[in-house]
Amino acid sequence: MSKQRVVLLPGDGIGPEVVEAARRVVDASGPPIEWVPMEIGTVAFEKYGDALPAHVLDEVRKCGVALKGPTTTPIAKGHVSANVRLRKELGLFASIRPVKTVPGLETPYGHMDLVVVRENTEDLYSGLENEVAPGVITSIKVITEVASRRIAHFAFEYALRWGRHRVTAVHKANIMKKADGLFLECARQESLAYAGRVSFDDVLVDALAMKLVTNPSQYDVLLLENLYGDIVSDLAAGLIGGLGLAPGANYGPDCAVFEAIHGSASDIAGKGIANPIAVILSAAMMCHHLGDTESYLRIRKSVRTITRDHRELLTPDLKGSGTTRSLADAIVREVERRRREPVDD
Ligand code: NAD
Repeated sequence: MSKQRVVLLPGDGIGPEVVEAARRVVDASGPPIEWVPMEIGTVAFEKYGDALPAHVLDEVRKCGVALKGPTTTPIAKGHVSANVRLRKELGLFASIRPVKTVPGLETPYGHMDLVVVRENTEDLYSGLENEVAPGVITSIKVITEVASRRIAHFAFEYALRWGRHRVTAVHKANIMKKADGLFLECARQESLAYAGRVSFDDVLVDALAMKLVTNPSQYDVLLLENLYGDIVSDLAAGLIGGLGLAPGANYGPDCAVFEAIHGSASDIAGKGIANPIAVILSAAMMCHHLGDTESYLRIRKSVRTITRDHRELLTPDLKGSGTTRSLADAIVREVERRRREPVDD
């Protein structure tokens, strides 16, 4: 069987540690993958003067698939985020972030099983900021009909494909009547084509924040603009136990890049204690994308077995005493066991 080439982008901070863990888990499950390791983020910036070099973009375009770790973006100065550029350059307009309660790690917030669908290309991430006068800055929010219809269509198609029953558009159209009003109207228009198959409603983003922490189980698929999607993903991840548990994927017409929600976590980078589960689950999503549903299920079930039965092996963010390496070892062993003796659970 010919091997699928997949670009491996460890990134920086905790990226190399958690991406290596995910690579080992995928290899243990056995999809025919040829990894193509390449540098982005701080490492690439120091080497090439560019956090996202053109040759990396070319390779991802060629392979069509990448597994990516986080990259650091300087705060309030410095280069444009490599992540934002990657998504724009490759046309990765849809970010999918499933957030599901993890067995063994149930939280006081109740059961959650929702999917954040985030528009990835515009909104306040347009990078259009100007100093119009000393002490006065404008930051332009761009919302277009084309991008709003495209992401709404993606959300409804996703809901149908994955047996989800409702899409909720999230907005602040009472204040941003034109920008968020357009986003909401596009979602409404798109919903008409799915009437009777996927239901539709909407919620103000501030109300959503409150409703999520009081009763998260009421939500199914959340459809959001770029910034709200970013914030709500982190909030939702926190409700299931933290950023170390929440995977993600970015899809465009020609490429898909799989990466966790979390960032480069400089506070724990290099200590060997970063939780690799979010990137491992992102890698499972990648296997599904590549057509290997067995690996997708095997990896997810293996993670669930470890979180449910071996709390002591988990990393410190989950109150365990394990390390990135020892947790990855345990998941690799479980994947190998399930590969040898398939269990139906
Ligand atoms: P962060 O997600 O890196 O960290 C927030 C907190 O969560 C930290 O306390 C961190 O230790 C913890 N955390 C995150 N991932 C963890 C894991 N796997 N295991 C255990 N604990 C984990 O967010 P931040 O500190 O706001 O951002 C740091 C940098 O990452 C910034 O430069 C930001 O721009 C960048 N960032 C990159 C991406 C990406 O590459 N896709 C995403 C978000 C943030």
